[in-house]
Amino acid sequence: MKKSLTCIVCPNGCRLEIDVQSHDVSGNKCPRGIAFAINELTDPKRSITTTVRTTLSEYPVISVRTDGDIAKDKIMDLIHLLKDVVVTEYLPIKTIIVHNVFGTDVNVITTANMQKGDKCL
Ligand code: SF4
Repeated sequence: MKKSLTCIVCPNGCRLEIDVQSHDVSGNKCPRGIAFAINELTDPKRSITTTVRTTLSEYPVISVRTDGDIAKDKIMDLIHLLKDVVVTEYLPIKTIIVHNVFGTDVNVITTANMQKGDKCL
């Protein structure tokens, strides 16, 4: 049995097919597509970009992202976890606001410098 998927590693967006048993991949224009298809079949992961609330008037919310990929089936758990996170101080870019998400080495970090008196986002 084969599974079809679109490679998201680069803008080419190759249409891939992977054999579920043998892990043979076709449709890829480069070797990264093979690794993507196998990972997508066996251990799919994504990086996440979202926002968290703050108590600062200039920044009702701030943009954050994971600094690596997390398991696809943990994405909603992370979104729920971040609903309870509230930033209370001005932070520089790449400040870790959640360490080691779900026991991984992935952190959630800020994506912009926050400065007192700035206009929000
Ligand atoms: S297979 Fe290679 S060329 Fe095609 S989308 Fe993936 S990374 Fe890009």
